[in-house]
Amino acid sequence: MRAAIFYPDGPQLEERPEPTPGADDALVQVEYCGICGSDLHAAEPDFRAGTIMGHEFVGTVLEVGADVREFRVGDRVAVNPNGVVCGHCEFCRSGRANLCADVWKYSVGVARDGGLAPLAAVDQRTLYRLPDGASFRHAALVEPLAVALRAVKSSGITLGDNAIVFGGGPIGLLATALLRAGGATDISVVEPSAVRREKAVAVGATRAIDPGAGPLAELLVGPRPRYGFDATGVPEVVKDAVGVLAPGGTLTISGWSKRLPSFAAQDLIFKEITLRGSFIYTTEFDAALAMIATGRIDVEPLISGVLPVSEVPAAFDAMGNSPEVTKFLISDLHAGSTEG
Ligand SMILES: [Zn+2]
Ligand SMILES: [Zn+2]
Repeated sequence: MRAAIFYPDGPQLEERPEPTPGADDALVQVEYCGICGSDLHAAEPDFRAGTIMGHEFVGTVLEVGADVREFRVGDRVAVNPNGVVCGHCEFCRSGRANLCADVWKYSVGVARDGGLAPLAAVDQRTLYRLPDGASFRHAALVEPLAVALRAVKSSGITLGDNAIVFGGGPIGLLATALLRAGGATDISVVEPSAVRREKAVAVGATRAIDPGAGPLAELLVGPRPRYGFDATGVPEVVKDAVGVLAPGGTLTISGWSKRLPSFAAQDLIFKEITLRGSFIYTTEFDAALAMIATGRIDVEPLISGVLPVSEVPAAFDAMGNSPEVTKFLISDLHAGSTEG
């Protein structure tokens, strides 16, 4: 089968044998696999050269190993790429499995073969059955939605608060939609691309701000936001965010790069700003699936197109070069389709 393989200088297409499921695995026919921003910036040692990429995928169970109990042939499933953890460290036992030291060891599409291929064999602990109302096309975005959901939920924001979101990529847009659904009254999104600013307003932003238009403090309207979300991976954003948040505000960071952020320590201290990180998800995966199944969160505006596996290198180029693209789904079964 044709698969997209991680190499340090970019993804390459290779012919690979169809995977054989082990005793604890299910063989999944991939319906859709999303390409993530973290795939575009994939690097060793987390990503292993020669691994099939793709960690945002859904599909149909074709075969199950001898020890698989909860899933059967024909089940519609989503894959939680971080579903295999040690299960007995203090973090696993206290509901924070995202902090387990083993979380990177199995990571599907990163350390183990993933879903940018027609077939994937994955451990049963990664599988979630799709609720009836969830289409494959929309459920393919459950992983980034779970990431955004944890960032928003763990920030402490409640009904009636105001917020500022930095970045109009998939995580920023999904965070915006969640803030709107969750009762934030005023949501500013800061994003340089005009197309992404339009999308931000479409998914629920009160206003979308072009950071190139002037000092951010002058572009904001109304009371200063108390909750900030950085989904950019651009370190300079932390300085802006700390500068404009209201006293007592909280900045939740979920995007990062290898460059270090810097900010004015006096802003942090005099305003008692809290800086915090949010990493992947724990129980949010289930909740995100339910939000997609019920239509509570509409992920359709994020989908920029559906391409076959053979187009993965071109899709990486397009996503890296054009802010118009938010999320490509890859599917040999549905390439070019706008349904299902
Ligand atoms: Zn992702
Ligand atoms: Zn653990």
